[in-house]
Amino acid sequence: MFDRYNRKIEYLRISVTDRCNLRCRYCMPEEGIKLLSHSEILTFDEIAGFTETAVANGITKVRITGGEPLVRKGIATLVSMISSVEGIKDLSMTTNGILLERFADELKKAGLQRVNISLDTVDAEKYTFITRNGVLGNVLKGIEAAQKAELLPVKINCVVKDSEDEPDARAVAEFCKKNGLEFRYIKEMDLVKGTFSPVTGGSGGNCSSCNRLRLTSDGKLKPCLFNDAGFDIREMGFEKAFKAAIEMKPASGQRNRINGFYNIGG
Ligand code: SAM
Repeated sequence: MFDRYNRKIEYLRISVTDRCNLRCRYCMPEEGIKLLSHSEILTFDEIAGFTETAVANGITKVRITGGEPLVRKGIATLVSMISSVEGIKDLSMTTNGILLERFADELKKAGLQRVNISLDTVDAEKYTFITRNGVLGNVLKGIEAAQKAELLPVKINCVVKDSEDEPDARAVAEFCKKNGLEFRYIKEMDLVKGTFSPVTGGSGGNCSSCNRLRLTSDGKLKPCLFNDAGFDIREMGFEKAFKAAIEMKPASGQRNRINGFYNIGG
């Protein structure tokens, strides 16, 4: 389906939880976040049902994100429900990789095609500092497990302050080269201030070619990451919310005072 700026909207990102097992400094405060209640979070049936509507209306690419998608209980079941929607050509997940060693095979069997794993440094101490509690070794095991399970290509998302020349980013790029991983760096964004730029090696951050919609874990369909608008799929119904989001997709991002990365999924 085309929006009013003639962009073909084909890509749906689904945040399946607002919970995360890390507290990355640029993403989430250490404490004091009000988490959604069980009844606010979309059920598996709602997520799969909405995906069906989205695919019937032109979505061909779906990414599962969070929070941390692997902390959602029964994630492999949810993946298999989504993957059985006919018409999805590309089904991927963005994860911090901490729990991937445990889930990689199950996810592959459930129909997940590939993963993006977030990794900002290969220095174990710095990793724990940035994530506030993460253990680098667990992510490295997760990356290996993803490769073994053939969740390919495995892409690494590396958030940088300013440029890819930062020592941590260069070390991550080198690590990727050695280990057959694709590398993409993302300049740190600020939703409230509205600072964002194109993602190098990826398709994000470029408004004129943006083909995305985002579904939050409490069922708000967002036409743009840098915009407050969100259409409630429970209140409006799937079809109406989908069409409204496409109709209201802005020409370009401005700012988002409502969401954090952790509840919209990046
Ligand atoms: N927990 C998963 C993970 O870590 O990949 C998925 C959710 S996370 C919010 C999705 C992506 O958003 C990650 O690659 C993360 O690095 C990125 N991200 C979070 N905060 C960001 C920020 N302020 N600027 C740019 N990217 C950000």
